[in-house]
Amino acid sequence: MKNGPKPKTAAYRKLLERKAEEVRQSMSAQKAAQVVARLDVPSDEGDLSQQHHEEWIFLNRNTIDIKLLREISDALLRIDQDTYGICLECEEPISPKRLDAVPWARYCVTCQERIAARIADGELVEFQEADK
Ligand SMILES: [Zn+2]
Repeated sequence: MKNGPKPKTAAYRKLLERKAEEVRQSMSAQKAAQVVARLDVPSDEGDLSQQHHEEWIFLNRNTIDIKLLREISDALLRIDQDTYGICLECEEPISPKRLDAVPWARYCVTCQERIAARIADGELVEFQEADK
């Protein structure tokens, strides 16, 4: 591991915490909207597939949010462990530009692209590390 200048982790911690809060709020807002929509929908058969479709979108969106929350909490953990801003693959510092755009980034752009390509090829199924 190189001893480059460390990113200002306090600022990133704030960013990450704010983002996590945002995601949590949007998740509960979606949930509330879903309940309201369900009450509005007349329960005849024609609407059922539409309702299923909406549920699917809702679940799908929720899954993305949950993944993002996990990414954020992992990033906060890396701040605690003093490994924040270091690529998990090549151990080079991740560029501040990338961290500003994606504060929960685990990999530098090069590794990220390589991993994305391997997923596209079907070589890797999951992007995430296995659950602990
Ligand atoms: Zn890398």
